[in-house]
Amino acid sequence: MKEDYYDILGISKNASDAEIKKAYRKMALKYHPDKNPDDKEAEDKFKKAAEAYEVLSNADKKARYDQFGHQAFEGAGGFGGGGMNMDDIFSQFGDIFGGAFGGGGFSGFGGGGRQRVVKGSNLRIRVSLTLEEVANGVEKKIKVKRKVQADGVTYKTCSTCNGAGQVTRVQNTILGRMQTSAPCPTCNGTGQSIDKKPAGADAQGLVAKEETVSVKIPAGVVDGMQLKVTGKGNEAPGNGISGDLLVAIQEKDHPTLKREGDNLHYDLYVSLPDAVLGSSMEIDTVTGKVRIKIEPGVQSGKILRLRGKGIPSINGYGKGDLLVHVNVWTPKTLDKSQKEFFENMRGDEHFEPKPEKGDKSFFEKVKDMFS
Ligand SMILES: [Zn+2]
Repeated sequence: MKEDYYDILGISKNASDAEIKKAYRKMALKYHPDKNPDDKEAEDKFKKAAEAYEVLSNADKKARYDQFGHQAFEGAGGFGGGGMNMDDIFSQFGDIFGGAFGGGGFSGFGGGGRQRVVKGSNLRIRVSLTLEEVANGVEKKIKVKRKVQADGVTYKTCSTCNGAGQVTRVQNTILGRMQTSAPCPTCNGTGQSIDKKPAGADAQGLVAKEETVSVKIPAGVVDGMQLKVTGKGNEAPGNGISGDLLVAIQEKDHPTLKREGDNLHYDLYVSLPDAVLGSSMEIDTVTGKVRIKIEPGVQSGKILRLRGKGIPSINGYGKGDLLVHVNVWTPKTLDKSQKEFFENMRGDEHFEPKPEKGDKSFFEKVKDMFS
């Protein structure tokens, strides 16, 4: 059976906000772990009091507790069996005891002194790729200006924090002696400071250096995509780790091929005689020119699908297709004899449109293309 919150704090159900606060202060003072080292019972009481105060100091939670008891906080968002952790409890202290204790953990609880691993900043660059490079993948040599540790720079253990990265302050308070810790202001939490700084190095002992970085770009990347080259950003001082090089992909327009996802589109213009008599024509692909056959009687609007001639999927699942859109070019001017020829063909049954079932309408083709 869980203890009643009012009983824990030793107050009546009619206690005012001020009385609740006062009761909790008293309990916190009495059972504070710094005053009761290695006393499990005191720590339990301290935690219970904090949990009770957490609920009773909040009008909404208090109303729910008054109506439903502990059941109000079972399940999601409740305290479960675990109660509050020490960080939660100490973060409450800002309200109760004034700003001095807000934030910052207390020594002796949780992780203790935490040394921060410093990471150098990231570098960002943009790389423009042709469609062929996108389709086939490419290794690019990219010049970047990185910050690196200067030749001859040395670092030593920070004398302010002795390498811990944190400084601990002891204050005398109404709760007795209390410790707060914060990142070391001298070394910004790294635990190291600069020892020997060569001329030209900045305050962290770094200098800018131009370097050529090789970036492997896989086939199938998309405009706007960002690749990460781990560790090729700016170096960090001391024994920190380097930042990353972030490579933004930009796709150049291709003169004849248009990309749509992993598929490519190509507009093929066919002369009237070639359309009538059949032919073969060269078209562009991302792996060079390819000759394709034009059947006699090909219709304008026909789409020839070259399977696997598109862009490889970036996920490695197959390749897109190259869709060749046939456009029959109707001559705009004719000489006299050509004009006569076509005049004679007017009404000729071979020239009459006779769409077959196989000649899908424009709308059906569009539907196919996107399915
Ligand atoms: Zn320090």
